[in-house]
Amino acid sequence: MTQNNSTLKKSQLSFEIFPPKKDEEFENVYQILRDLGKLNPDFISCTYGAGGSRAGKTIEITSFIQKELHIDAIAHITCVGFTKEDLEQNCAALKAAGVSHVLALRGDRPQTMTDEQFNSREFYYAVDLIRYLKEHTTLDILGACYPEKHFEAPSFEEDLRHLKEKVEAGVSSLISQMFFDNQYFYRFLDKARALNINVPIHAGIMPITTAKQIGTTVSLSGSSVPKELADIIATYGDDKEDMRKAGIDYAVRQIRDLQEHGVDGIHIYSMNKVKTTTEICSMIG
Ligand code: FAD
Repeated sequence: MTQNNSTLKKSQLSFEIFPPKKDEEFENVYQILRDLGKLNPDFISCTYGAGGSRAGKTIEITSFIQKELHIDAIAHITCVGFTKEDLEQNCAALKAAGVSHVLALRGDRPQTMTDEQFNSREFYYAVDLIRYLKEHTTLDILGACYPEKHFEAPSFEEDLRHLKEKVEAGVSSLISQMFFDNQYFYRFLDKARALNINVPIHAGIMPITTAKQIGTTVSLSGSSVPKELADIIATYGDDKEDMRKAGIDYAVRQIRDLQEHGVDGIHIYSMNKVKTTTEICSMIG
């Protein structure tokens, strides 16, 4: 079995950000990154628009993180919307931009894509992309994992079998989908370790600071919402500041418990929110 050690330093804290939709918001994202950089994360990852839209923006942002902030940058990269030729160009651009870590994903189907377009992609599963990158580049490759199983997988066990294939193909570490009940993550960790999936696994934490997030981001992720969090939203959802505070408190309690369990890393889905991320980091020390 091929299992590479991560070339990243031991990660205990990392953030995910996304490229702004409009070009005029770009200066703002650099300030967000400077502020997030002050929190000393071990790495920052930058998402890739569904279907490969605005790929160049992910490269620009990760280059800034790597070259200007001197923080390990992870560029997300997807099978969807990408031909082999696009991928080669993207890898060359990443190299020129000084970015050497990627999170290799299958990607979700954009709303504008037909079934036929979605199913005719050249790399079908993330593992196909990982194998290609491993063979043709020197990139450090990370993968995604799902504590509550991926929504399309017929069973938790089958999803884990495919996860093991990604690790055997050469991913150096895994970043988890968001979850709101740590018990799912601990169950997933036990099962993954039992299958000899021994790479570092970063726990994905999404602070819920508005009621709207449950209807959008969270429902797309397929992650379940425990009663305690649903009650918080029912109680504070209408008051912006109270909801923000209650959501931060929930995320902090989740993180502290994960830290006490000695997880490899905490990956905060920052949603580009500096104030919330800073408050969480100061509370978790
Ligand atoms: P895969 O590992 O390919 O798995 C997808 C499904 O196929 C699973 O059900 C799996 O069990 C199954 N499967 C895998 N291999 C096989 C096989 N050989 N045979 C049969 N079934 C198989 N999306 C974006 O568009 N842009 C982003 O930037 C982005 N960032 C993300 C970051 C993280 C940390 C996570 C967790 C997700 C992110 N996503 C992003 C969403 C992701 O693209 C979707 O969740 C997508 O549906 C699955 O991607 P994957 O890489 O996990 O797919």
